[in-house]
Amino acid sequence: MNTSPASSPFSTLYAALPRIAVLATGGTIAGSAQDATSTAGYQAGVVGVGQLLAAVPALSTVANIHAEQIASVDSKDMSLALWTTLVQRVNALLATEDIDGVVITHGTDTLEETAYLLHLTVRSTKPVVLTAAMRPSSALSADGPLNLLNAVSVAGHRAAHGQGVLVVFNNRIHSARDVVKTSTFAVDTFQSPEVGALGWVQDGRVEFQRSVVRPHTVATEFASGPASADAWPAVEIVTSYAGATRTIVDALVQAGVRGIVVAGTGNGSIHAALQQGLADAASQGVAVVRASRVGSGHVMHNGAASDDALGFVTANSLNPYKARVLLMLALAAGGTGPAELQRVFDLY
Ligand code: ASP
Repeated sequence: MNTSPASSPFSTLYAALPRIAVLATGGTIAGSAQDATSTAGYQAGVVGVGQLLAAVPALSTVANIHAEQIASVDSKDMSLALWTTLVQRVNALLATEDIDGVVITHGTDTLEETAYLLHLTVRSTKPVVLTAAMRPSSALSADGPLNLLNAVSVAGHRAAHGQGVLVVFNNRIHSARDVVKTSTFAVDTFQSPEVGALGWVQDGRVEFQRSVVRPHTVATEFASGPASADAWPAVEIVTSYAGATRTIVDALVQAGVRGIVVAGTGNGSIHAALQQGLADAASQGVAVVRASRVGSGHVMHNGAASDDALGFVTANSLNPYKARVLLMLALAAGGTGPAELQRVFDLY
């Protein structure tokens, strides 16, 4: 625990050690391989939360830990049912006076989606921090143990209050709004394109260098999100590319989806054939959101020139996967029509 005086920016909020709930969901951080040199051929989500914590004895000097095994999944298989459980459990824990913050261990593959979901649905200003690992727990230079220690240090720090949901990885603190996975193998995979990290953590020292501008957690209109797995509106993602057709869009409309996010080329531009399919979908009441497959930057709303005429909404600086999260929450909350949905995308 940091024992600096209360006036120091590096002191904690608590007289005693902070009480942090660690919720394990699986992922590579809980992965194990046959030998220590294997960092790609391993099984994710097989090591339990007790073993994860035992591998980091220094945790006992940073926080009093309450541990729960919520799931043991490879996050490529993250489900709406598990999202519902996670949102409800995090909110229930934070509503008690016994818990000062939450750390969630997660796979890296869909971490940015879960983090953004929580950023919009957690009903507390207490810290919520997601962390993960690129190397399984059995690997040489496994990154999970230090990431976990750093995540708990941040969750127990007063500066993390009111910052929204955070992702702590490779010594950096990112906002759930901005962070994305950028490399298939590197330990610095998580980046916040255009805006950069919020701050850093090292050897128990936590420093924020900027704060989040858009509304999150207690300031959103999404309460705790859908109450059960089947209450989530069906929203799918399609991509534009050379030679794209409208076949998938027509099949999705036929299947009754409520929304489609398109990962467009460049500034969310869409192949003419696919665009016609999406315009027809929008005219039938399907919410269509234009995002970009590029990986950084934003998608400009073209207004009367085309988006308004076609009935499209634009995703601003959300990537297609985060845009899908926001669209599902907005539709579940009763949002309808391009103008109302555009308000939501411009705000969050
Ligand atoms: N497939 C793993 C997962 O997302 C990858 C990881 O955790 O790094 O669960």
